[in-house]
Amino acid sequence: MHWLAQLDHRFLWHPFTQMRDWLRREPIVIVEGKGAVLRNVHGREYLDANSSIWTNLHGHNHPKINAAIQRQLAKIAHSSALGLANEPASLLAEKLVKLTNAGVVRRAFSRAGSSAALPRLNKVFFSDDGSTALEVALKLAYEFTRRSGRSKRPKFLSLEGAYHGDTVGAVALGHIDLFHQNYSGLLFQTDKVMAPYCYRCPFNRAKPERADARVYRKCHWECVGKVERRFSAQKKKGNPYAAFVFEPLMQGAAGMIPQPPGWLRQTAEIARAHGAVLIADEVMTGFGRTGLEAAVLDRRTSQNNFSGGHRPPLQPNLFASHHEGVQPDFLCLAKGLTGGYLPMAATLMTQEIFDVFLGKYEEFKTFFHGHSYTANQLGAAAALASLEILQSQKSIHSRQALENILREELQALWSLPNVGDVRQVGLIAGIELVKNWRTREPFASRKRAGIRVCEAMAIRGVLTRPVGNVIVLMPPYCATRAQIRRMVAALGNSVRTALRG
Ligand code: PMP
Repeated sequence: MHWLAQLDHRFLWHPFTQMRDWLRREPIVIVEGKGAVLRNVHGREYLDANSSIWTNLHGHNHPKINAAIQRQLAKIAHSSALGLANEPASLLAEKLVKLTNAGVVRRAFSRAGSSAALPRLNKVFFSDDGSTALEVALKLAYEFTRRSGRSKRPKFLSLEGAYHGDTVGAVALGHIDLFHQNYSGLLFQTDKVMAPYCYRCPFNRAKPERADARVYRKCHWECVGKVERRFSAQKKKGNPYAAFVFEPLMQGAAGMIPQPPGWLRQTAEIARAHGAVLIADEVMTGFGRTGLEAAVLDRRTSQNNFSGGHRPPLQPNLFASHHEGVQPDFLCLAKGLTGGYLPMAATLMTQEIFDVFLGKYEEFKTFFHGHSYTANQLGAAAALASLEILQSQKSIHSRQALENILREELQALWSLPNVGDVRQVGLIAGIELVKNWRTREPFASRKRAGIRVCEAMAIRGVLTRPVGNVIVLMPPYCATRAQIRRMVAALGNSVRTALRG
């Protein structure tokens, strides 16, 4: 075993990992990366098929982000945001406010339930990762609700299968029993409501087909009805929900579970009508991950047919909520914020929320919350460079092409009897493994079907992690057609060999 792997075995404890299994085999020790490729200590190359746990956007070792970090490093790496401002964080906050408001091009919903007034995200609170971005939103929403007189005991509603991070507040918002049950004694209580999961929905009367279950589902939007009833029931108790927390378009750790088009818009409207603030967790879905909006694609297709030749630049939504015309009151960002380079997060919120924390010093309305590395200068410099790349026409067009390539390549997986559902939202794909596609019968968890398939993929030079029995493909935006083809082929071949018999 390589000496670095030995050190790892001796001293490290890995996240979300059964360490008894970990210690049985030599770990892959990554020493380099370039584009979508990772290289280990032995010089073997792998494709980074989950963008290093959903963080990386433009590939590893990107010359522009490297240069931005190096330029910043030559000045200063970090100075405290407690009492001091800094250049890249100020520039980044301005840019985030611009980007997160420009995106809502269609209907959105005011708190009164009308489409007229659009909440505007005006302020940015920086922190370190996805969990802390959610903690900030949670604490601010709690205090905002109390101080604005809406409720003395603010209650939160989140989705079945929700995952919002591992700090205690974020865990309280989550509803994955496996992760959260053991800590129930530590947590405050939040309510959950049915989230759409068309493939396994008890209300979906359609028989399994070889297509994304959202497309062939037969239902009456019972999941939306459940949200309406939950809000109404809570209102009757005299303490309406303070906030509705959701991952827009696709729930990640729940198993890459996509929402059928229209679900978010309808439920956001219900939440607003009941006076709740919206907390959008775009830790996974932000920064173009959920693809170009259909309307933008349509416009582009018709532009292609223009005889004039000049094609106006594309400016797609970068945030999943905006695909449904929803502008939340809190927008939580992390993972891709720095292009996957450095840990940094941002919670954006409206002026109305900010104003509730203003007052005389001795009134102590201050938001008593913050981290040592809040508004880190290196992270902010990386984020600025990443956003510039993200907005370039070159990146937009290659993301669009990549989304189509992924869609085409994934079709091959339908021929496998152990593939039950293939669901894609933009540049995220979840492939649900089942014992029998005709019955949707799942594999027992002790069979470790997802883990076995991913291990077999690693042998074929493709790295990703499963969520239960769902295999995740989430390529960096720089991946080539050949690389996508290799990722999908490795997945297909691994399903064939690892689940045989
Ligand atoms: N929210 C969502 C939707 C996530 O997917 C994650 C991480 N997978 C988090 C929050 C927590 O982010 P972090 O791991 O950076 O704390």
